[in-house]
Amino acid sequence: MVSNGNSLIAYNVLEKRIINSGFCTLCGACEAACPTNALHITGEKVIRLHDCSKDLDLCPICYEICPHSEALLLRSLGFVADAPIKNEALGYYRKIMLAQAVDPALREQSHGGAVVTALLKYGIETKFFDSAIVSQAEPENPAKPKPSVALVPDDILSAVGSKFFPSSVAKAYGSAVYGHGKTDIAFVGVPCHVLALRKMEAWQHKIIGNLKITIGLFCFGTFSLSSLLKYIEDEYEIKPSEIKGMRLSSNFEVQTENGVVQIPLSAVEKHILPSCRTCTDFTSELADISVGGAYPLQDWSTVIIRTKAGEDFVYKAVENGILNTWVIEQEPKVFERIVVAAMQKRTEALKEAKQLEEVYGYLPVLLLRETDALAHIEIEEIMAKNIKTVPQDMTVSRFLDFVAIHHHIGYPVTNEDGDPVGWVTLEEAASVAKKKRDETLVGQIMRRKLVVAYPDETALVAFKKMSENETGRILVFDRANPKKLLGVVTKTDLMHTMTQ
Ligand SMILES: Cc1cc2nc3c(=O)[nH]c(=O)nc-3n(C[C@H](O)[C@H](O)[C@H](O)COP(=O)(O)OP(=O)(O)OC[C@H]3O[C@@H](n4cnc5c(N)ncnc54)[C@H](O)[C@@H]3O)c2cc1C
Ligand code: SF4
Ligand code: SF4
Ligand code: SF4
Repeated sequence: MVSNGNSLIAYNVLEKRIINSGFCTLCGACEAACPTNALHITGEKVIRLHDCSKDLDLCPICYEICPHSEALLLRSLGFVADAPIKNEALGYYRKIMLAQAVDPALREQSHGGAVVTALLKYGIETKFFDSAIVSQAEPENPAKPKPSVALVPDDILSAVGSKFFPSSVAKAYGSAVYGHGKTDIAFVGVPCHVLALRKMEAWQHKIIGNLKITIGLFCFGTFSLSSLLKYIEDEYEIKPSEIKGMRLSSNFEVQTENGVVQIPLSAVEKHILPSCRTCTDFTSELADISVGGAYPLQDWSTVIIRTKAGEDFVYKAVENGILNTWVIEQEPKVFERIVVAAMQKRTEALKEAKQLEEVYGYLPVLLLRETDALAHIEIEEIMAKNIKTVPQDMTVSRFLDFVAIHHHIGYPVTNEDGDPVGWVTLEEAASVAKKKRDETLVGQIMRRKLVVAYPDETALVAFKKMSENETGRILVFDRANPKKLLGVVTKTDLMHTMTQ
């Protein structure tokens, strides 16, 4: 329970830290989870319908399950932590692949692979779930998402495509349980929506037993509806009712009856919600299945399968001819783009969060903090062994192909004697101009400063060395032979240790 001296009623903290500070993304989880029906989302605000402290002495729920509070984060991570691969950019997963709906008409409507729509339609038709939470378009304002409970395939088909404004999907989840009595629900949302549901699961909230599967979307951010629509009306003389659709590509495209208006991304960026600037999750790391774009491929989506439930469902859909699939290892550019986007989002969010910590006195993002648990574990127990290294004379082009095959983000670089002399990551390689990648060597772009630890040191020492050196990974060497590399520890390994 949060206690800031205010009271034991979580709403007081939620209001101060999240709602009034501008961090709410209108997911609706607090409305769905509130035991006294005290909260309601209306317009672009959460309002309190009555003072719950008159009925209760203590209630921790709304703050703890809000995706922007620091509560329950590690426990939420525990729901995906049994996946065999842990990747510092993409989180835990079992498999990553490219996929598209077999039906070309669906792909045309979605401007992507229409994987989410195809999976949901298949799930409803085969009664794998009894309903799905989707975001349709508001009829009188098509840019605005309308969170809905889809009961039949047509409801799902009418939600195809992305809407770039907040959708109160967790509130719709509450309606599916309370209003429609649904017991096997599929849920689709952006990473903070999925986190809200996972927090309810960690909290063991009574409505979460009705959740069958979560599909998370990749997300760079959502826009403030009123602020962006006003900007478009003022600058481009397009009324909200004239907007037929919106699409994000190299520009922000607004479709009207008279054609498509192109707005530079730099102009729309300032209308992104404040929470999105401190959000570290690009690929919906807590979903059963995550789906995002597959740029530069046009009508494909990237699918990251994280849990056993997600794996069983996707493989069933593939076996039944619902999806075409393709191996991502054959498309290194797609993998590179996703990993770089995820790492950039995290780096920017952490920078922004540090500044906000000074203003608000707390950090609104998932951050690894020093903990006693790390002091009792030796590095030997948690380090990754059998590390793949790359030679310093490998070209950047070959390195990028290597990354697409092996899926790790960073590798120690060795000299001609096989001794580690540096460290290179996908981020540095991706920043080399495309036409220079065949002639640039890994040795030219590697980081030369190696942060080193020994197997008998504790995980807490590893954490402190990472923090002092502002790095996310350290190399573990043999004390007896300082040139012998034994393993690598990353911040993701430390997080994993804490979830166990
Ligand atoms: C706000 C937002 C930002 C995104 N940013 C990126 C990005 O930077 N990079 C990237 O690769 N992909 C991003 N995506 C994901 C991408 O746009 C596609 O949604 C994803 O690739 C799935 O494509 P699909 O063709 O399989 O989905 P479809 O079959 O078209 O289905 C889309 C599903 O998304 C749901 N949906 C639509 N809008 C919302 C919303 N606002 N909130 C919750 N659910 C919604 C609908 O219910 C629908 O079921 C973003 C999506 C959203 C909503
Ligand atoms: S009763 Fe509702 S509004 Fe009040 S603290 Fe609990 S969840 Fe929040
Ligand atoms: S739970 Fe969702 S709707 Fe409620 S305050 Fe948090 S972000 Fe806003
Ligand atoms: S960027 Fe993060 S906080 Fe913003 S809408 Fe996407 S998942 Fe939510």
